[in-house]
Amino acid sequence: MDVSSTHLILDVFAFIFGACVGSFLNVCVYRIPLNRSIVSPPSHCAACGAPIPWYNNLPIISWLVLRGRAACCGTRIDARYCMVEAGMGFLFFALWLKYPPLEAVIYAIMISGLTVACLIDLDHYIIPDRFTLGGCIAGFIACSIDPALMGQKTALLGFSWSLASAMMGGMTLLAVAWLGTLLFKKEAMGMGDVKFLAGICSFLGGTSITWILPLSSLIGSILGLALIFWQRGAWGTRIPYGPFLGLAAILWLFGGSDFMYGYWEHVGHVWNVWNSPMVDEHLIPKH
Ligand SMILES: [Zn+2]
Repeated sequence: MDVSSTHLILDVFAFIFGACVGSFLNVCVYRIPLNRSIVSPPSHCAACGAPIPWYNNLPIISWLVLRGRAACCGTRIDARYCMVEAGMGFLFFALWLKYPPLEAVIYAIMISGLTVACLIDLDHYIIPDRFTLGGCIAGFIACSIDPALMGQKTALLGFSWSLASAMMGGMTLLAVAWLGTLLFKKEAMGMGDVKFLAGICSFLGGTSITWILPLSSLIGSILGLALIFWQRGAWGTRIPYGPFLGLAAILWLFGGSDFMYGYWEHVGHVWNVWNSPMVDEHLIPKH
């Protein structure tokens, strides 16, 4: 087999694998908040309890073939399940194309945890600690294994910069939350969001804050205003902030980092403040 067809097979595999992971993530989103095991019992219908045979449980395809209804009892299945599967397929495929293999695998794991956290936040207005604090620990480990994620050469430096980035992310959002409470006299952000950004930064580095914070606030505000417009006067509608942090973090991996590193390089003197003598400038990741 020639090189290009091997490439093509791996590309297709990345998509299919991502879609299968997406299918598993749907199970996690449903079961973790209920404190149920994510491996047993095997897939069964949430409405009537009938076991779902494998041919009715194929990512993306089964939802389309069954036109969004359960084969056993005809109960509607939310389009979100199919969208998560397709979305993860595309994200794994895109990561595989854009990043070296080890980085692609690490970012795929990160995005998987991130997606579950965001969907649980959407459903329950909470991000469990195992995703936020667990995310931090996963980030420290990832940056020790692959210090290049932090623009470093040694495991110790990768770990240290991951730790520092997590603290920077957490403290920045803590300051924003404090300011918000001061200005609006009500809690605008939960500690879950603070810990969530810490976890994100343990993978993406401190500079990502300058992208994630403004972008997530912007998207959140636009969507918040749109919701108020649609459901007239529903000012009280609660929108979780976590999903916007997650979305901005994913966009950081696909263009945001190129944009911001370019931007900070132009703003030379600001860049120098970030660029303490510990960092070798040539090792800043050029994603
Ligand atoms: Zn059923």
